[in-house]
Amino acid sequence: MEVEALANGFSKLVEEELKVEVEAEPLPPVVEVEVEVEVEVEAEEREIVLGKNVHTTSLEVTEPEANDEDTGDKDAYMASVLARYRKTLTDRTKHHLGMHSFSLSLSLSLSPSLPPSSYPYNLDFDYGALGQLQHFSINNLGDPFIESNYGVHSRQFEVGVLDWFARLWEIEKDQYWGYITNCGTEGNLHGILVGREVFPDGILYASRESHYSVFKAARMYRMDCVKIDCLVSGEIDCADFKLKLLSNKDKPAIINVNIGTTVKGAVDDLDLVIQTLEETGFTHDRFYIHCDGALFGLMMPFVKRAPKVSFKKPIGSVSVSGHKFVGCPMPCGVQITRMEHINVLSRNVEYLASRDATIMGSRNGHAPIFLWYTLNRKGYKGFQKEVQKCLRNAHYLKDRLRDAGIGAMLNELSSTVVFERPLDEGFVRRWQLACQGNIAHVVVMPNVTVDKLDDFLNELIEKRSTWYQDGKVQPPCIAADVGSENCACALHR
Ligand SMILES: *Cc1c(COP(=O)(O)O)cnc(C)c1O
Repeated sequence: MEVEALANGFSKLVEEELKVEVEAEPLPPVVEVEVEVEVEVEAEEREIVLGKNVHTTSLEVTEPEANDEDTGDKDAYMASVLARYRKTLTDRTKHHLGMHSFSLSLSLSLSPSLPPSSYPYNLDFDYGALGQLQHFSINNLGDPFIESNYGVHSRQFEVGVLDWFARLWEIEKDQYWGYITNCGTEGNLHGILVGREVFPDGILYASRESHYSVFKAARMYRMDCVKIDCLVSGEIDCADFKLKLLSNKDKPAIINVNIGTTVKGAVDDLDLVIQTLEETGFTHDRFYIHCDGALFGLMMPFVKRAPKVSFKKPIGSVSVSGHKFVGCPMPCGVQITRMEHINVLSRNVEYLASRDATIMGSRNGHAPIFLWYTLNRKGYKGFQKEVQKCLRNAHYLKDRLRDAGIGAMLNELSSTVVFERPLDEGFVRRWQLACQGNIAHVVVMPNVTVDKLDDFLNELIEKRSTWYQDGKVQPPCIAADVGSENCACALHR
């Protein structure tokens, strides 16, 4: 495959250039010191109070004592705090189902002192080779394609990663512009800003189930924003979209299309969105589509029947999160747009000797290297396998929930299983489930194994039998969220 050849050639080149040594640096030994660091929060009810929540568990920064250098007390203290922290990370990763980040599990393998056998999902994947770079302050500030005056950068990796995504989303190298962002949110902020710069008087359209960052963008940019209804699946309802377009025909349209919604994992029908625009008289020079692929942007290309995200269609930008399905151990993302659009947005900055077209100024230069490493290691084939595994495991989870009489839904193109919210908040916290009203979800990512799902299911089923044993409390009805056919409450069962 062309991509593979390219990647191989590139990694050879880098190996020669950098003389990569795969040896990881050893960690300092952990000194056991008794310290009072309580990292677990046991309160039953958690109230969100501005500025208060973390203070009870924060780790104070203290001035070094005059004799610390000699006694080594502070070093020992810090080492033990870090050792305990590592243990909580290990524990929490074990019970990690609700959010879609796949990162903690992988970052653990950066530490050579951990026995790899405790983390089977790391066996074929190890970032040890990158350990040698961690003490460099790598910063890609400015435009990825224009070198700035700051020499410690990783643009060669960044552009390699961008080219890979450009190929995936079918746009020529000389036709696209993009950069590696801090997260999926930054991609949305950028995509919508490009849309706004192309159509300064455009109206932003987004389905109600779009990520909160889309509505944040509307507030930040003071844009008119029209919310579109969703189908029960969570997909944008194009009938409602059409009505709302028709009543705003005088203004250009900027549309956020979800390639996987946050809660239900619904994939908006991109082709139907485009068709709806065309049918209502919006010509291609009167709309801008940003695809929010934070969640499934890298999964959909490998799912049969999924609407294809491609710059051969009239879309303006696509973004994806690097720490969700891609599996990068630190938050990051990728944003790709058309070259013709970016020129509207960018300004030259003399002080940087580069061009400003990004949302952030300084940019994490390590993230592109982690992404580059991940893409090289997994390749198209690797991602394809992981997608199949995720979809298989998601079906397994949904089927077992339904077999146990628990209401649950799984969208056809999705690995997000939505089910009734567990009654007990302690259980929700233990499994780090994200809840909304009466529903909770599990986003089945590659590190979620059948064993982990079994542990979760067995515990849920056992706990549930105590929650509902005397019949005084009933499981919630979730028909409004997932449709009556997926609900298992007393009425719909
Ligand atoms: C997670 C998510 C985002 C935001 O991504 P971050 O990387 O967390 O900033 C945006 N859109 C959707 C659909 C998401 O699921």
